[in-house]
Amino acid sequence: MLSPGKNLVVKRIVSNNQYDAIIIGCGIAGATLSWHLHSRGYRLLVVDDRSVPNASKAAAGIMSPMTGKRHTTVWRWQDFWPEALSFYQQLESTTQSSLLRLIPQLRFLTHNPTEEMLNRTQVLGAFVDNEALSMRSGINHEMQRHGAIEIPSAILNVSKFLDVTFDMLNNSHRLHCGQLPYEAIDCADDQFVIEQLDAYSKHLVFCEGAKAANNPWFDWIKFEPVRGESMQVRTQELPATYVYQQGIALVPTGADTFIAGATYDWENLDSGPTAAGATQLREKIARLVAEPFTVSKHRSGVRPVVKGRRPVSLKHASVKGLWLFNGLASRGCLQAPFLAKQLAAAICDGETLDSSRLDNSAGDKTRAKNTKQLVDIESKHGREPRLTTLAQDIVRSVITPGDIVIDATAGNGNDTCFLAGCTGADGKVFAFDVQRLALQRTAKRLSDMQHEQVELLLHDHAKAVNLIPATYHGKVAAVMFNLGYLPGSDQNKTTLPSSTCRAISSLLSILRPGGICTILCYRGHPGGAEETSKVEEQLAALPVTDFLVETYAANKDEKTPLLLSVTKH
Ligand code: SAM
Repeated sequence: MLSPGKNLVVKRIVSNNQYDAIIIGCGIAGATLSWHLHSRGYRLLVVDDRSVPNASKAAAGIMSPMTGKRHTTVWRWQDFWPEALSFYQQLESTTQSSLLRLIPQLRFLTHNPTEEMLNRTQVLGAFVDNEALSMRSGINHEMQRHGAIEIPSAILNVSKFLDVTFDMLNNSHRLHCGQLPYEAIDCADDQFVIEQLDAYSKHLVFCEGAKAANNPWFDWIKFEPVRGESMQVRTQELPATYVYQQGIALVPTGADTFIAGATYDWENLDSGPTAAGATQLREKIARLVAEPFTVSKHRSGVRPVVKGRRPVSLKHASVKGLWLFNGLASRGCLQAPFLAKQLAAAICDGETLDSSRLDNSAGDKTRAKNTKQLVDIESKHGREPRLTTLAQDIVRSVITPGDIVIDATAGNGNDTCFLAGCTGADGKVFAFDVQRLALQRTAKRLSDMQHEQVELLLHDHAKAVNLIPATYHGKVAAVMFNLGYLPGSDQNKTTLPSSTCRAISSLLSILRPGGICTILCYRGHPGGAEETSKVEEQLAALPVTDFLVETYAANKDEKTPLLLSVTKH
């Protein structure tokens, strides 16, 4: 067995069983990657134990743009959804099978919607009030009381998707059904060798789902797998024309059958379906469905969740040709086509992966989270610049004309004008401040420079995301924060830790991959040091899979300003 860092015995290999890639595991991740590599003419060996239950086999296949109790837009929906739609629809025509169903979803509200929620959710869906809902039979009356949000969604028939994939693999490649111990994988002459299968390949990709928690080559990735249970529900009166969501999802699979799920259990990962899970599901189904129902096919699966809750696709730092694609959790159907396409491009053409920065930290177990790194300003920049200038230098490196950027603290307008200069007339700058005086000063400065692409917003930056059109979400190139008080004005009107932290977290969520957020913190004024600590704490907890955090300080004096920069992978 090849163990990380071990010297290898070089063997001469003579075999006809030469593959371009070996894929270990064929759930949603392995299957989507197989299709992408197949379409590029790669010869594949796929190893999967079809008899063992896994998260993909238990998945309901729902792809929804909203999540959680607050009905927020799911992470990178704008990237994932178009790719998923085109991938599955193309596969339907290639395989002459029906895999995808576009279907609206009703997300029931547990209290009357706030204006903020209505404004936010109307970008993707529409509010349906109690009266309109009461026209639809079969839904529990109590559930309709506060209305619902109706949004478009889609259901992938996951077992059929896996079946057509296995057919394709059986017909054009090689599918080995069975378990493969890690010890059976070796590496020689720069390629992977599985002697028991008489198989050789330059690339090997682990797509094992939750089982990867024991993978010796990627043991630095922290998994937090969660077990979920689902049930089949049969009821006559509930229209099968919607997916119903409240606490659980009821996903129609036939005229009167639905899959109900799922539960979340982080403790009993090996237990299979449980009595407690069944009770929980029955209670939640009864809250949604007014009519009598029967349940059958009680299932359990372990979702592969990586700490930080984001998928990972990356190459091993030192073993050439070794890859991992995992962590798709409960949104595998949505995320896999986009990520598998990127991974296939990295394997076949050597293109860079979104998560390429992870390569640097692979194997370094001490970097489980973003810890503070004090960057030596002089060595990086040749001289010691002012931190305001340094922040602009950092931001300038990612902006191109036409970009969308945000100044979260307009103040006297220095950064706003700088950003407007970088993005040019075709770009867009959103500048926020809570003080009218600050926006007047910024407007004056801008008028001297005739920057019409700037929108000045007299609003708290904690609410900025709601004021920035959803079409720009995920496309923002840079965000600048310059905390503290407005120079030359009331020094008691400062930025505050709670709204600053909320603003940072929400604005990071709409940065584009490769985008940067800079936060210049002042520690000399009352409350400044506390605010800086809160921001540092918040950034240190960001998942390393998604962000790189760097800290700049002119010297080690605890009262001097600190510049933090966050790059989104
Ligand atoms: N970047 C500015 C410049 O280039 O001139 C300087 C910004 S000044 C240090 C901080 C600004 O943040 C002040 O104008 C203050 O009014 C503003 N501010 C304070 N709390 C805020 C909030 N919650 N949302 C938006 N701006 C806020």
